[in-house]
Amino acid sequence: MAYKIILDPGHGGSDPGATFNGRQEKDEALGLAMSVGKLLENAGFDVAYTRTTDVYNTPFEKATIANNMRGDLFVSFHRNSAPNADMYNGVQTLVYNDQGLKAELARNINENLVALGFADKGVVERPNLVVLKRTKMPAVLIEAGFINSAVDNEIFDNKQNEIAQAIADAIIDTLYDRGIHANDCKPNNSQSYSVQVGAFRNRQLAESLNLQLRRQGFPSRVVKEDNLFKVRVGDFRTLDNAVAMELKLRLLGYNTFVVS
Ligand SMILES: [Zn+2]
Repeated sequence: MAYKIILDPGHGGSDPGATFNGRQEKDEALGLAMSVGKLLENAGFDVAYTRTTDVYNTPFEKATIANNMRGDLFVSFHRNSAPNADMYNGVQTLVYNDQGLKAELARNINENLVALGFADKGVVERPNLVVLKRTKMPAVLIEAGFINSAVDNEIFDNKQNEIAQAIADAIIDTLYDRGIHANDCKPNNSQSYSVQVGAFRNRQLAESLNLQLRRQGFPSRVVKEDNLFKVRVGDFRTLDNAVAMELKLRLLGYNTFVVS
């Protein structure tokens, strides 16, 4: 069974969330969630949504939808709002408590978004938020900048693809660090095969090859092992599937070998 990630676009329908100069939080949350979902699907994850259209569900209903779909991870998308325009700016990720996988994920999301120019408003515990409290899986809620901040909106509008990629990368990398792969429910529960495309002492070289592969649609990632940054594609249960992937990569000129 593939690892299932539930994406929750905040608000919806009769509840627009925060609004500012014609912008509505519910629309921006939906657009971002759908973009992140496509990237996670490309990486092999099972992705489901609490909504894909402009409908309203209560936070309790959203948590129940996620629980009924037996999600392994829950990510809620929102935009923040301050009492006055341009009062605050920056990204913030909320968690039920600052522990475990969700806390690591929240930090990685913030770190990746800060790299795009957002200020870091940190990881904040919000034990009373229903979608964080009632979901039976690790859950985070991303406040992707303030909807009434000119600074944040400039980044949000001009770097839409980068923001989606930053969040998807944070999810994939956090899970991978825990040994959770797209095709597993549990970490390291059986033998698997990947195709190694490069190994570098320099992390940036590995990250740039990784980015190039992702842009070509390959589910690649960077793994740190024996002081090297190794770029690997896929996570297969059978050697045959890894060999088939290797063939595709070799046709594009990559030097590869299969690792288990
Ligand atoms: Zn919201």
